[in-house]
Amino acid sequence: MPRPPRVYKTPAIVLRQRRLGDADKIVTLYTANHGKLDAVAKGVRRVKSRLAGHVEPLNHGSFLLAHGRNLDIITQAQTIESFQPLRNDLDRLSRALYAAELLDRSTEERAENFALYRLLLDTLRRLAQRDDLDLVLRFFEMSLLGQLGYRPELGQCVVCGRPLEAEENAWAPGASGVVCPRCQPGETALRPLSLNAFKLLRLLQGGRFQEVARVRIAPELGSELERHLRDAIHHALDRDVRSAAFLDMVRRKPRARPANAIRSAGPR
Ligand SMILES: [Zn+2]
Repeated sequence: MPRPPRVYKTPAIVLRQRRLGDADKIVTLYTANHGKLDAVAKGVRRVKSRLAGHVEPLNHGSFLLAHGRNLDIITQAQTIESFQPLRNDLDRLSRALYAAELLDRSTEERAENFALYRLLLDTLRRLAQRDDLDLVLRFFEMSLLGQLGYRPELGQCVVCGRPLEAEENAWAPGASGVVCPRCQPGETALRPLSLNAFKLLRLLQGGRFQEVARVRIAPELGSELERHLRDAIHHALDRDVRSAAFLDMVRRKPRARPANAIRSAGPR
């Protein structure tokens, strides 16, 4: 087998970072070409580090990595987009961190998936620029479920297989799909699914954000969608998402003005 190149270059988004020793950090990257990977950023906890600003969570950059004995080493990094509007607004920041954490928790290391890289990048751009932040997250969640192989069944009843119609269906997060009215008696762990939520779930699954973005959603319907998708994600991942709790906490507070939110709220 040919030896892999000693150094390689890839665009990537920083998902999180954690301390390593006195001066270094381990940075989790979601790369365009190699999936998710951990890499060492040397000396970034020193004041004069040239690398430090480029490995902040949520940064989109170009990274030059060298194969190390255990972890690869970041030898150079150049920021492409720092998404400053995200960092100045706790509402935007909390959602962006949630998206990054969800991707981190739901993917294995070194499993290449360009579509997921692209999905996170598009999501961060939308969260930095748009005002319909929750709709952006719902689109991210539905797309992520599809990419991970947990695409909810919205075409036919998951019990009897009949085509679903515009009626009082129910959401079955455990089965990742929808149950028709005839099959609901006797089924457990069903959630009421309003007709509007059903239509919106289908629209989200269509995968075209421009179509989704035309919709204006009342708060109650927004909460229903969030519950259904979060249920589906919990069942798919079978573990709690820490950022979801973080997001709930942020939402209960009045709109805050973070001084340097990325440092105080970012993943450790
Ligand atoms: Zn049925």
